[in-house]
Amino acid sequence: MKYYSTNKQAPAVSYEEAVVRGLAPDKGLYFPERIEALPKGLIGNGKPFHEIAFEVAKRFVDGEIPSAKLQEIVEQTLNFPLPIVEVESDVYSLELWHGPTCAFKDVGARYLSRNLSYFVRNENKEVTILVATSGDTGSAVASGFLGVEGIKVVILYPKGKVSEIQEKQLTTMGQNISALEVNGTFDDCQAMVKLAFNDAELRSKMNLSSANSINVARFMPQSFYYFWAYEQLNDKKKALAFSIPSGNFGNLTAGMFAKRMGLPVDKFVASTNANDVVPEFLQTGIFRPRPSVSTISNAMDIGDPSNFARIQELYNNNLEAIRNDMVGYAFSDDDSRNAMRKVYQELNYVMDPHGAIAYAGLKKWMHENGGQGIFLETAHPAKFGDVVEPAIEAKVQVPERLQEYLKREKKALLIGNTFAELKAVLLG
Ligand SMILES: *Cc1c(COP(=O)(O)O)cnc(C)c1O
Repeated sequence: MKYYSTNKQAPAVSYEEAVVRGLAPDKGLYFPERIEALPKGLIGNGKPFHEIAFEVAKRFVDGEIPSAKLQEIVEQTLNFPLPIVEVESDVYSLELWHGPTCAFKDVGARYLSRNLSYFVRNENKEVTILVATSGDTGSAVASGFLGVEGIKVVILYPKGKVSEIQEKQLTTMGQNISALEVNGTFDDCQAMVKLAFNDAELRSKMNLSSANSINVARFMPQSFYYFWAYEQLNDKKKALAFSIPSGNFGNLTAGMFAKRMGLPVDKFVASTNANDVVPEFLQTGIFRPRPSVSTISNAMDIGDPSNFARIQELYNNNLEAIRNDMVGYAFSDDDSRNAMRKVYQELNYVMDPHGAIAYAGLKKWMHENGGQGIFLETAHPAKFGDVVEPAIEAKVQVPERLQEYLKREKKALLIGNTFAELKAVLLG
């Protein structure tokens, strides 16, 4: 099966090429020519998670990775629990933070790294992945690629602009992961990485690749856990909504792919912070990207959501069809804090500021429409302790795997914010 670009100005490519390239040459996102439904018996019949995930993966990889290898990749990706927890009657939290870096991005990063590693297995040159990060993405990518053969990862992060725990996650991995602490901003880091990809000398001397979130192999595996969440529900007949705390909308779009493959979902709730480009689009029909504003749910501070192009493609640009499957609500920082406090005080459940927005969105939908709902808890609350603790007026337990990072010694090379310095480091 081929993957075409959502901008339709570049040739369709194999799955392998879509994964290795990341973004299409016309800057579009790769999109599969077909989305096949799963056989009926696979959904809601008590099948094991790995079996369902493998059946989903198979339909997108379409033979380009041998079955046994793909099975292994799926099992290595999903080697931690992804449980639903009933927070109150008919309201479930899908806890996506049980992975190594305590955020849902672990799923996409682990799957992508193993896909890439397979595709570059016959290259004689090591592949170097360059990532600029403002925090969360870098640690998931670093952990996802840790120890993966044939691949080296270089992370650029802005000095003094990530939390202590995030910095430790970026700088203490060792093995094939190294960190560059850039004396500058996140935008500087991103600009330096872009220049590296466009530098002919670097490209001739090194195999450079990216682990950007628009990569099909980072986006697609996120559909696995929608099926698994459904599998865990006691009542599979009652109307079901999923509420997704959204920034670039990769997570939500993966849910819509799951629905297209046969998962019975009545509604997707696009829950955002003040960066409300998509809720506004659903209201007005006008897509108006704009600069992002800062909020306490900073992983969703995105003013031009990249996966919007995939949503449009999935629905053939039909606004009514999109509205049929999806509603959108935006919430303020105070709404997020209030949700964290209320759910902690009344239900004894601790949410992070992103999951809190998803909870608020789900409650709003269910208030008007009933049924049951699942909100996606995308990060462990301890990753945002400085926001969560004052909101709930209690301490947040830091999981052992996060505490481990804090004990390790930071190893990073401090560089200036110019491409010349990055290039010198890369060329050794
Ligand atoms: C990245 C991220 C999101 C947003 O996910 P998208 O797929 O970009 O919409 C939400 N919550 C957390 C904690 C994240 O790290």
